Amino acid sequence: MADAFPTSLCTRCALVRRIQTDRGSVFLQCGLARTDPRFRKYPPQPVHRCEGFRQEGPA
Ligand code: SF4
Repeated sequence: MADAFPTSLCTRCALVRRIQTDRGSVFLQCGLARTDPRFRKYPPQPVHRCEGFRQEGPA
């Protein structure tokens, strides 16, 4: 799936989950929101700064 928000940190974050509706809308769900109330489940996009960001891929 092409990234809907290419400039957003979330698109490169290991904690994100991409949700696509039947109508084709894409939402980026923050996995950190489940355990940390400082983070919104669906952060307004694009996100440019985030202290919870974790680079996806091998460390
Ligand atoms: S931790 Fe930050 S960068 Fe990562 S998915 Fe959540 S809001 Fe986006």
